[in-house]
Amino acid sequence: MKYKGYFFDLDGVAYQGSQVIPTCRDFVNRLIDEDIKVCFLTNNSSRTPDTVAHHLQDLGYHVNEENIITSSQVTSNYIAKQSKRKIYLIGMSGIYQELTKIGCEIVSENADLVVVGLDFHLTYDKLAKAAQEIIKGAELISTNSDLMLITNNGIAPGNGSITQLIETISKTKAIYMGKPEAKIFEFGLDKLNLTKDEVVMVGDNYYTDILGASQFNIDSIFVETGVMTREEILQFPNQPTYLVKDLSYFNR
Ligand SMILES: [Mg+2]
Repeated sequence: MKYKGYFFDLDGVAYQGSQVIPTCRDFVNRLIDEDIKVCFLTNNSSRTPDTVAHHLQDLGYHVNEENIITSSQVTSNYIAKQSKRKIYLIGMSGIYQELTKIGCEIVSENADLVVVGLDFHLTYDKLAKAAQEIIKGAELISTNSDLMLITNNGIAPGNGSITQLIETISKTKAIYMGKPEAKIFEFGLDKLNLTKDEVVMVGDNYYTDILGASQFNIDSIFVETGVMTREEILQFPNQPTYLVKDLSYFNR
């Protein structure tokens, strides 16, 4: 393989629920042994990079928090470039930590920005308040557009579905940060200090990983270890550079 840097998705690529995907673990650990740059890109804004890294370490990955990029980091990086700092927040510790780290003030009214991340304690009142703040002039920023989550108990609302509800009530479109948006890939390239032709995205989901890579003009590897099948992928106009059963295909 010719790449100097690899972006990996997490769920369906590095692990499946609580189970490690050994072909990915072996591949990632070999890349790290060879000093090739590795970065996991996750849309999930609820966990901190440190928590994600510990989870991966428990599964046998030789990574640390420097190998993790969350949509929360991309969001705070985007906000840090603006002068707006008063935020009405829907979200959990991952996004909270990143926003407070850059000096944002989390407010209950008169916000400059409404930021939406995954929140398992979301209430009707919070949704109403978020919409009211936007109608009063706050900008709407969302960590990602994923419509659903696959949990141990089945399908659940994703951050994109929650954001769409707020968009509908406030008649305002959100600015999205995670895959398939370019912002998370740009953040990744900056972090790895590489160019587009030097990296590849490994993913199991067309709508986030493969479409995102294609729109950003980087190569991609689709693996059949997650949510979609080879047959489903073949029906889309934007095809991955490689389409493999799992990452053992690249073992020399
Ligand atoms: Mg996935």
